[in-house]
Amino acid sequence: TAAEWKKDVIVRDEIDKYLIDGKDFIDEEKIHAQIANAKNPDPEYIRGILQKSLSIKTLAPEETAALLNVESPELWDEINEAALQVKKKVYDNRIVFFAPLYCSNLCVNNCEYCGFREENCDEKRRILTQDEIRKETESVIDEGHKRLILVFGEHPRSDVDYMVDTINTVYSVYRDAPVSGREANIRRANINAAPMSSAKLKKLKEAGIGTYQVFQETYHHETYNKVHPTNTLKGDYRWRLYALHRAMDAGLDDVAIGALFGLYDWRFEVMGLLYHTIDLENRFGVGPHTISFPRITPASGSSLSNNLPHQVSDEDFKKLVAILRLSVPTAGLIVTAREQPELKREVINLGCTQTDASTRIGIGAYSDQKTEEDLDKKQFTIGDPRDLDDVIREVAELGYISSFCTAGYRCGRTGETIMGMLSHCVEGKFCKLNAVLTFREYLNDYASPETKAIGEELILKEIAEIEAEPYFAERPHLMEKFRAEYKDILLGKRDLYL
Ligand code: SAM
Ligand code: SF4
Repeated sequence: TAAEWKKDVIVRDEIDKYLIDGKDFIDEEKIHAQIANAKNPDPEYIRGILQKSLSIKTLAPEETAALLNVESPELWDEINEAALQVKKKVYDNRIVFFAPLYCSNLCVNNCEYCGFREENCDEKRRILTQDEIRKETESVIDEGHKRLILVFGEHPRSDVDYMVDTINTVYSVYRDAPVSGREANIRRANINAAPMSSAKLKKLKEAGIGTYQVFQETYHHETYNKVHPTNTLKGDYRWRLYALHRAMDAGLDDVAIGALFGLYDWRFEVMGLLYHTIDLENRFGVGPHTISFPRITPASGSSLSNNLPHQVSDEDFKKLVAILRLSVPTAGLIVTAREQPELKREVINLGCTQTDASTRIGIGAYSDQKTEEDLDKKQFTIGDPRDLDDVIREVAELGYISSFCTAGYRCGRTGETIMGMLSHCVEGKFCKLNAVLTFREYLNDYASPETKAIGEELILKEIAEIEAEPYFAERPHLMEKFRAEYKDILLGKRDLYL
């Protein structure tokens, strides 16, 4: 039974081993004091901080606290400009695309903001069979996606063995692309799921997942306990806080953190994300692969999600993106389809590096459109329902290459290796080439005529830039391989990378 299963989920020793003198790395009093003591920061101090970010170094908490206290609009212009520069230095002009796949809405928890919570009787419960997972994967591949994030509620029926089966199914699906007829598949499956024990995490590692993502939701203990009833699994703050530490120890070195904005003061949460990053960096030599900052949107059966104590305005949302970009220069920043297109455009220009498109959040909704249309009972609400092709065209108009690159983890460039390369702005060079190769595939296999027209222009400009760059000129073998692979893709080969 679920009650029996729940007793064995949390392994106390796997929390205690990470405490220092019995304490967490989140010290609330200290964070509050750091924010309060950084009022009216000296503009020269702020400019020094911007220079530090531009040298691709994680900021110290006092420095981030100073950024959080800037009020002058002129200084904010400088901050925003520096954020975009940092992004360009590390991630150049690429946007990575992915699609979420909701596998099950069964859940034993009662998070006040979520439509999947157990007590929500309005939610129609469903867990996809492997055959349904296959159909969903086919539909997502047919859109042009190469990267998925698989999302699960916490429940014995969707425990790690179900996740492993799901990952195997996803990786086994091959389709013919609609325009070119070439073979296409999902090349990277990431996971967003509840915290797990090391033993379960090792199974995920063996199944070949990309990133393991767990959002702390809020780093503020009292708020955490208020919105996650303490008699539930999720009610254990520390089991969640060290979920990614356990993942690192289990060999999963691509981990992703996040906070759910709207529960507590956004400035505090930004500090929490930074402390989480610093603790991972200190202990494992590598910080988070990505940071997410979803804002709560209305969910069925959740009065809290319609009545938020700390609603984050669009203006503050943009500030938090710029500050996170500067505070953790190497981390990918994810803006999701929860946000409206216009705001997404703005935050892409402030530092976001990844987004989803053609997103469906109903269980089974990619392969059965009606499921999504009928669905007024959702886990949350979508702000940008556009197709992948429309979003790719839009970002191409903004000058961004869409990337489906999955080369990094397949070539062993993960964890410490990739983060080190990012901080020396080297991984970006590989990504630049791989982005062009995967964008080439998309243009040939899926793009509408309008997107293809804009994309062709952009890709030629990008190749001309690559050819002119000294880094590549000094590496003739790399360039030879790139040119050969680009040509091979035009001739019909697929899944080539560097
Ligand atoms: N059950 C797992 C967990 O809680 O970690 C993973 C799945 S949960 C559906 C994924 C994320 O959705 C949560 O971590 C939370 O941040 C986000 N979420 C839940 N309710 C939301 C809402 N109303 N609006 C926006 N995001 C929400
Ligand atoms: Fe369950 Fe996750 Fe939703 Fe909480 S956020 S109710 S744990 S699915």
